[in-house]
Amino acid sequence: MVEDGRVTGVETSKGALPADAVIATPALPISWSWLEPHVSTNYVAQLRKVEYLANVCLVLELDRSLSETYWLNVNDPGFPFVGVIEHTNFEPAETYGGRHIVYLSKYLPESAELYQMGNNEVLEYCIPYLQRMFPEFNRSWIQGSHVWRARYSQPIVARHYSGLIPAMETPVEGLYLATMAQIYPRTGGTNYAIREGRRVAQAVAAVLDGREQIAQTAHGGARNA
Ligand SMILES: Cc1cc2nc3c(=O)[nH]c(=O)nc-3n(C[C@H](O)[C@H](O)[C@H](O)COP(=O)(O)OP(=O)(O)OC[C@H]3O[C@@H](n4cnc5c(N)ncnc54)[C@H](O)[C@@H]3O)c2cc1C
Repeated sequence: MVEDGRVTGVETSKGALPADAVIATPALPISWSWLEPHVSTNYVAQLRKVEYLANVCLVLELDRSLSETYWLNVNDPGFPFVGVIEHTNFEPAETYGGRHIVYLSKYLPESAELYQMGNNEVLEYCIPYLQRMFPEFNRSWIQGSHVWRARYSQPIVARHYSGLIPAMETPVEGLYLATMAQIYPRTGGTNYAIREGRRVAQAVAAVLDGREQIAQTAHGGARNA
């Protein structure tokens, strides 16, 4: 929620939450859709320059283990996923009621055929590749499957990317950005997301704190350390 160029809160499915400051963490295209009415077209145009790859993730519930490897990166261009990750070689299968959880991940453009496929098609497409990599693997091992798609998964770090990274502050007073697109030169990862979140949260807290100090000084009040 924005009034007179300043953030006033967040609209949620359970009503409005008033706030002095808001940190927006979704991918930039999601943020700019609701920022657009409140900022200049130049600002939105600048944010739009950051493009994103999508991601498809097939999660399989198997009745047995696929291999002893937790994280198998695959560089074979004939295999359509960047890796085969057997999550239950890291976290015990008991956590999942005895099911063995394996996922296949692929970063790709939104227009790619695999991204456009239906859930069943994705599964059928993947099975022969898994059989080639793990010859004993049989489709009867599959007890369940889930397909996840994320349209804005990985910002594309093109040439001169450092010049595209948006500042944490936005033209809307009190509204800040903390997104994967600002993580540079590293690529996105949970650890960097946490680091960025802390950095922005500390900066926002300092701004709010400073404002509080000014208000208290103006009213002659003392501030507790
Ligand atoms: C398949 C895959 C595997 C990965 N594996 C790893 C890994 O092994 N290790 C690792 O470190 N990193 C991994 N990553 C990267 C990691 O997931 C990201 O770096 C991290 O999640 C980024 O955190 P974030 O909080 O910035 O964004 P996100 O985790 O994407 O959080 C953004 C949140 O905003 C929410 N949102 C969207 N729109 C709105 C809206 N309008 N209003 C409110 N909320 C909204 C979304 O639902 C989401 O919960 C992986 C990513 C993918 C796609």
